[in-house]
Amino acid sequence: MELPFAESYKIKMVEPVQRSHRHEREQWIKEAHYNLFNLRSNQVFVDLLTDSGTGAMSDRQWSEMMLGDESYAGASSYFKMKNAIADITGFEFFLPTHQGRAAENVLFSAMVKEGDMVPGNSHFDTTKGHIEFRKATAVDCTIDEAFDTTLDHPFKGNIDLEKLENVYKKYPAEKIPMVIITITCNTSGGQPVSMQNIREVSELSRRYGVKVVFDSARFAENAYFIKIREVAYADKSIREIVREMFSYGDAMTMSSKKDAIVNMGGFIGFREEELFQKASVFNIMFEGFITYGGMSGRDMNALAQGLYEGTEFDYLETRISQVGYLGKLLKDAGVPVQFPFGGHAIFVDAKRFLPHLPKEQYIAQSLAVELYLEGGVRGVEIGTIMADRDPVTRENRYPNLEMVRLAIPRRTYTNNHMAYVAASLINVWERRSEIKTGFRIVKEAPILRHFTVGLEKI
Ligand SMILES: *Cc1c(COP(=O)(O)O)cnc(C)c1O
Repeated sequence: MELPFAESYKIKMVEPVQRSHRHEREQWIKEAHYNLFNLRSNQVFVDLLTDSGTGAMSDRQWSEMMLGDESYAGASSYFKMKNAIADITGFEFFLPTHQGRAAENVLFSAMVKEGDMVPGNSHFDTTKGHIEFRKATAVDCTIDEAFDTTLDHPFKGNIDLEKLENVYKKYPAEKIPMVIITITCNTSGGQPVSMQNIREVSELSRRYGVKVVFDSARFAENAYFIKIREVAYADKSIREIVREMFSYGDAMTMSSKKDAIVNMGGFIGFREEELFQKASVFNIMFEGFITYGGMSGRDMNALAQGLYEGTEFDYLETRISQVGYLGKLLKDAGVPVQFPFGGHAIFVDAKRFLPHLPKEQYIAQSLAVELYLEGGVRGVEIGTIMADRDPVTRENRYPNLEMVRLAIPRRTYTNNHMAYVAASLINVWERRSEIKTGFRIVKEAPILRHFTVGLEKI
């Protein structure tokens, strides 16, 4: 018999989690103003709010923590991180930052100005926030196939070259500081971008004199999908694929809380010294001196080790198979989930789950609250609340997709937890016609409102 697939690690340390009763959860979510970000972690049984910084570090990463060099300038930990980044991504210059959005803040301070256009594939919320904060515009050029959750397409994160070229034709090059390729594309469902598309976007952008920047939080998962789905890459190693992907760009921003498997950290990688120098000034102002940038030495060590572990094929196969396991349980039960499954999360199509709810009542948020009530499972709304208001008209923006994202932390939960999550959501699916009303907003922030929004039941 062919030997079955199994995890590429075993467990050395555990952390208890507790179940709760439905009447307790009803009280807690009400006190949280129906915003799942306001819940305490001990009010949650399986926490799929995010895969950001929630993964389990390895014994080797914990060992690296002990070797951290906490010197202010020129620490060995800085050079360990520098060497790992150069080795894995090919970027010779880098700046450490405390997390991904800090990398965006520093890089965009050096590159983006008022009135600029920044095209890309469904910019991540903090990326878009940092663009709009500078009174510039993020232009979504994702292929249309990405917005049909039922369509089987291997690379739904791809950029539509025609949409991109239209932006390049319409605006002068000095108004377009960069194109951002997000790998994998978080906002459109953790969907990968093909090597061919990356290459073509890079060629087109070079012709128009536009720089290519990778938003690379899940670059390793993207490389795994290229290996599995893009025929020419089947025999290449993950690290070879990663090197080639980044060879098409001028810079990268990284949230190391994702594919570098650390709890906190980030960085910017640069091809050229000039941009690195320009950004260094902002790094010193916002983050810290250029050899630590908001990170402690021990964290830089763990990050360097994590970059190697995160780009191992066996690890990636374990991770992406677990995400697929949850996806398959849901799909087989008829629950409308985005297909193909993404790399880090399962996205539930809330409009098809609750077609009778009007969009003004926040469909995906309503579903996320129901899932919490059912099983103490915390997912997150990726829909109208996260899409924020239009910065000019202040009207709600209604995105094409209303999703509940179930993000799987790395190396953290077992497949039994996944089966529990699936059962909880299937129970909600079976009583979906009883969910008759959603929510209205009673309190919101002017930007990135989803983190602090307060809601009330209609
Ligand atoms: C998480 C993420 C960011 C922001 O990183 P933080 O570490 O959360 O600040 C930016 N872009 C993408 C694609 C991400 O997934």
